[in-house]
Amino acid sequence: MKVRLHGLFSRLCAVSMLAITIVGAAEASEFNAFALSALAKDYAQSSFPLLREILSIPNDANRPEDVDANVVWSESAFTKRGFSTQRIATAEAPLLLATREHAGAEKTVLIYLQIDGQPVDPSRWFQASPYTPALKQRDAAGEWQQIPWAAIDNYDDEMRVFARSASDAKGPVAMFLASLDALADKNIEPNFNIKVIMDFEEELGSPNLPQAVADNRELLSADMLVIFDGPRHITNRPTLTFGARGIATVTLTTYGPVVAQHSGHFGNYAPNPALRLAQVLASMKDDEGRVTIPGFYDGISFDDATREILRAVPDNEEEIQERLQLGSIDKVAGSYQEAIQYPSLNIRGMQSGWIDEKVRTIVPGWARAEIDIRLVLESDPERLIDLVRQHVREQGFFVTDQVPDKTMRMAHEKIATFTYENSYQSFRTDFDSEVGQWLRSALERTFEEDPIQIRMSGGSIPISPFVNTLGIPAVTVPTVNRDNNQHSPNENLRLGNYRDGIRTMLGILTEPL
Ligand SMILES: [Zn+2]
Repeated sequence: MKVRLHGLFSRLCAVSMLAITIVGAAEASEFNAFALSALAKDYAQSSFPLLREILSIPNDANRPEDVDANVVWSESAFTKRGFSTQRIATAEAPLLLATREHAGAEKTVLIYLQIDGQPVDPSRWFQASPYTPALKQRDAAGEWQQIPWAAIDNYDDEMRVFARSASDAKGPVAMFLASLDALADKNIEPNFNIKVIMDFEEELGSPNLPQAVADNRELLSADMLVIFDGPRHITNRPTLTFGARGIATVTLTTYGPVVAQHSGHFGNYAPNPALRLAQVLASMKDDEGRVTIPGFYDGISFDDATREILRAVPDNEEEIQERLQLGSIDKVAGSYQEAIQYPSLNIRGMQSGWIDEKVRTIVPGWARAEIDIRLVLESDPERLIDLVRQHVREQGFFVTDQVPDKTMRMAHEKIATFTYENSYQSFRTDFDSEVGQWLRSALERTFEEDPIQIRMSGGSIPISPFVNTLGIPAVTVPTVNRDNNQHSPNENLRLGNYRDGIRTMLGILTEPL
């Protein structure tokens, strides 16, 4: 018998969730916090072979044969679970869409899963292969020691599985499949339709995603987007993330003599490009890290309710500063959470001449800075880029997007080459949106505590095409441990987080919409 959640839950939700057990429906009682926890425990245990299997398939997005193996595996995994699957062709790797409709459903939830992983350097992994999952626990000295895989039959929360993509983001894929299995075994269907969009190029920045979304609006249409990716807040408590900053990048080059010159012969005569670059960069910010270019922070303000939500995030800033060994912090905002609500202007690298053992006595020919601008919803990327370019101009530079030739060099006192790329926009969903309220309610019922609500994550994810092109709100549900070494050697997933991730997804799948 399929249990229809809709009517049952709209009644139940009107009263306290604790009332579920009192109502007496055997099926409904399975969904209180206690029951979800027990179910998650069972299905964490029974899905370890699935987790091991998915992590054993190499998934470097740069390798077409890896992509193909993962597409095939995903098709099979979702077909087995009653989904119809469809490849969405792009210029490179396809996207995979898996759809399952449920009787009586009125809404459709689009779920984003990432299958590919960062490239690996096996020599830096302390195990046979990054694609051979290793079970490890800490010894008395705090060092990770591999233990036989069979020990997972009696796992404890602090054990971890080490493998590429254990956390980013095949772990969440396995959690999602395990929670689908748990509900199927209980004959329970969500009261909403599910579309799962699988990305096999996330680690490459999803270069083909925006076009694919634009070309397949109808196919991908949904009421909301849920992203199962990323680590929880550092306290490892249930977390919801309502937005992510976007990113644009700028490359800025200044010029001296056409080729590097002897600093004895030409120092005091040939202008130094490194100094010019330093001067123009230094003019962009004040001594406390605030961008001084007028208009850069325009449009950003918080109401009291937002301030309260930012304040409620349990960051330990003393600990952050101690960990990063920061004797001072930038004064863009009053707190860490507030700081990431603003666009940032960051020098991510600089080069001119040579240093260390290659240092030489020259006036260099050029100097270059790579800059990233993290975007927020209020900041139109083109406008910010224009502001920065105009600022460079105001420092007396002739600004071009070309490498200057001799004619150009002779015609201007100071030249800067300015090129940029607007990678992706930010997104930010209202806390009180339908998807926000729905997920909050699911997590409150599942964990019997208020989730930590992050208004904006500092980093960028390629989700804005869905939000902007499909016009649907998106919220990220992170599940994995923050210290998971994602993108690095020895990536891992804490088994307590794996189980709690299944619990989270069970809570969401059983939350009526
Ligand atoms: Zn990643």
